[in-house]
Formats: sequence, structure tokens, C-alpha cells
Amino acid sequence: MLLCLFAFGAIIMQCSTTYYSQTKVSMSQSITAIEQLNCRPLTTLSEDEQMFRASVREFAEGELRPRVEQMDEHQKLDPAIIKQCFDLGLMGIETPEEYGGAGANFFSAILAVEELSRVDASVGVFVDVQNTLVNNAFIRWGTPEQKKEYLSRLASEDVGAYALSEPGSGSDAFAMQTRAVDVGDHYVLNGRKLWITNGIEAEIFVLFANANPEAGYRGITAFIVEKSFPGFAVGKKENKLGIRASSTVELILEDCQVPKANVLGEQGKGYKISIETLNEGRIGIGAQMIGVAAGALQSALAYTSERQQFGKSINEFQGVQFQLAEMATELEAARLLVYNAARMKDAGINFVKEAAMAKLYSSRVAEHVASKAIELYGGYGYVKDYPVEKYWRDSKIGAIYEGTSNMQLQTIAKLLIGGK
Ligand SMILES: Cc1cc2nc3c(=O)[nH]c(=O)nc-3n(C[C@H](O)[C@H](O)[C@H](O)COP(=O)(O)OP(=O)(O)OC[C@H]3O[C@@H](n4cnc5c(N)ncnc54)[C@H](O)[C@@H]3O)c2cc1C
Repeated sequence: MLLCLFAFGAIIMQCSTTYYSQTKVSMSQSITAIEQLNCRPLTTLSEDEQMFRASVREFAEGELRPRVEQMDEHQKLDPAIIKQCFDLGLMGIETPEEYGGAGANFFSAILAVEELSRVDASVGVFVDVQNTLVNNAFIRWGTPEQKKEYLSRLASEDVGAYALSEPGSGSDAFAMQTRAVDVGDHYVLNGRKLWITNGIEAEIFVLFANANPEAGYRGITAFIVEKSFPGFAVGKKENKLGIRASSTVELILEDCQVPKANVLGEQGKGYKISIETLNEGRIGIGAQMIGVAAGALQSALAYTSERQQFGKSINEFQGVQFQLAEMATELEAARLLVYNAARMKDAGINFVKEAAMAKLYSSRVAEHVASKAIELYGGYGYVKDYPVEKYWRDSKIGAIYEGTSNMQLQTIAKLLIGGK
């Protein structure tokens, strides 16, 4: 297997060297043309972005791919993969260098999530939650002391999780029942959180509770809760359809004591923190979904070139070629939406509608492309010996978390036609 991988890598290198020397003139011409433009095509990466993507791809192909099946089967991330994510700087991509992060932009985080999800969407979301939700909340709303303490830990060794949803409040997140009571020098939190990604691995939780229910959603407050705090416990772990290696758990807060210094942002500003972090997070889920679609398409391209029926490779049939072309076109359109939303975010342009569109569309594309890939594999697509059934299972979550597809449509519609 290893030999096979090395041989495959060598072939790719050989092919790309030949291709490069044959097309050197036209490539350098096109690079000059690109430089002359005021703005780059969305999918043209800078040198730094190319290098970063190549290093994530190398990790994903070399270290992650051999472990994917087993992690899915055992419903558990391999600790060696978690450690490598930290060692490679993937757990603090946007975190400033002074806190031990890579100090890169949001787009780089999106590239990482896409590349990881092309191989395994569970590791994709593991890295995504850490960067786009947890680190992001600390970078934007943390005090200097909180940043020093928590961003440093999150970049080097501690996994983070983001706890908003509850059994009775999902789409209607602000109807949460978890309460925080100010008792002088600390808060006491009581309630239950459900569906919390990374909950098994996490040490640090950005957790939302209402500290002033009379004020309605304006009582919602974000707290930094550590696993070791008295009264905090991790409950049931979900047994899921897809992203099975990613942990999804219930959190139980029974008189959980949280120091006053662990309010993130101001008391009563949790609703704003949750809305704004999720706006960015949605682009991350879009990246996860284009990664899933890319992985499924890559598998379908390889399989249809190998599989022989009626005396030839099935990709010689126009019917098959057209399906592959449709899949590639859908993926490209989804990737453009995701990259555009991410680049808008980095440029400081309002990206809320584009983020919702990117998540909505890319989750549909992932599901459709993965489903088509199964069909192109025929019976082999339906069994676990081949990778495509997993891509399909993993695609389904894109329409659910960080706001269901209906919620994305609601956001898009509101921004199109106004109103409450
Ligand atoms: C694997 C997984 C991981 C998750 N990770 C996290 C996490 O890390 N942190 C976290 O806080 N949460 C997490 N979630 C929770 C997730 O965000 C919620 O499941 C999601 O927001 C939907 O909420 P719900 O499940 O309560 O569904 P509901 O809100 O009950 O929705 C059920 C259906 O009703 C529709 N619906 C509801 N209201 C409306 C409306 N007004 N108009 C039209 N349709 C409507 C929805 O679109 C959906 O189709 C995760 C969920 C899963 C499954």
C-alpha cells in the first residue's frame, strides 16, 4: 500500500514536470496576464496559498488517508492525527503569531478545511470548528488576558468546542434554556447543550447561556468554560450517519462554576457573538462540503477510467462523461461561491448573504456529487470497501449544522427583500 502511494506520487511528479516544461511559455504568459489584472481570478492562489495548500494536501494524503476507514469505523479521531494538526499549525491558522498561531488569513483556513475534507470530512470539521468558531471568537472578543491564555493553548495543545444548541433550541437558538446566575465572584451555570462537535476531545468550550432571561435574547452571554470546571460534564456521545470520527456530544452543566473573568465579550452580547461567529463558520462548512464533493469526484474519475464494461473503460461512454462533466461544473460553481465569500471576509466586505449562499449551495452539491459518484461505481459504490458511500454519508450534515438549509434561505431572503 505504502509502495503504491510512493509510486503514485512519483508518477504525479513525473507527469507534472513534463507538463510544466511543455507549457512553460504559455504558463508564464498567463501568470503575467494575471499580474496585470487588478484582481486575481478567485481560484488562482497566491504563492503562499499554493504552498500552504500543498502542505495540507501532503498531510491529508500521506497521513490521514490511510487512517480514514478505521476512524470512521471506530467513530474516533486518531490521537496521532490530532497531534499532527497542532504540529502543522492547523489548529491556529488565523491566530496571531504572538500567541503561537500561524497568523494567516481566513482564506487559508478555508483552504485547509477543503483539503482535509477531500480526504476526511471529520478531520475537516475538527479543524474548522477550532478555527472559524472558537479561535475566531477569542480573536474578535477576547480580552488581552483571555487571548494570551486561551489562544496560546488552542494553538498548541487544547481542542476547542462551540456550544450553542440545546435539545429544545436548534434553529431557534436564542430560545436556549441554559441559565447563568451571577453570584458575586463567579457565575453558576445550569442546563444542557446538545450536538457539540469536538466535545470529547475539547478542553475549552465557548458556551452560551442566558444570564438575564427577562431581557430575552439580550441576556445571552458567551462564557469560556473549561472541562475541569466543577459542575461540568460531558454526556452521551451520538452514533451518527456521517462524519462518524468527529465527536458529537451532550454537555451537562449542574451548578457549574465559571469565573467572572471568563465572560467572553460583554454580558448580554452573546447573541451578537453567536450570530457573527456563525456567519464566518458557514463559509467553513461550505469549504468542508466542496472538499467532500472534490473527493467524491476524484474517486469517480479514477474509477470510471479503470472499470471496464462492454470491452472498454466506462468513461469512454458519453453518458458517463456527461455525468462527470456535470459533477465538475457543480463543484466549480460551489467552490467559486465559497472562495468568494472567504475573500470578501478577508477584504472586510459584508459577506453574510454570500456565506449563506455558499453553505446552502455547496451542501447540495456535495450531496448530489457524492450520490452520482455512488451510481458511477455501480454496486461497488454501495459497499464500504470503496470510499464513495462515506462521502455521501458525510455530505448530509452540510444541510443541517450551523443553520439548516431553510435557515440559510431565510437569511438570503431577508437580505434580498428586507424585513425582520
Ligand atoms: C453532527 C452535528 C454536529 C453539530 N455540532 C454543533 C456544535 O458544535 N455546536 C452547536 O451549538 N450545535 C451543533 N449542532 C446543532 C445544529 O446546529 C442543529 O442541529 C441545527 O441548527 C438544527 O437544529 P435542530 O436540530 O434543533 O433542528 P430544528 O431547528 O428543530 O429544525 C427541524 C427542521 O425544521 C426546520 N425549521 C425550523 N424552523 C424553521 C423556520 N422558521 N422556517 C422554516 N423551517 C424551519 C429546519 O430547517 C429543519 O428542517 C450539530 C448538529 C449535528 C447533527
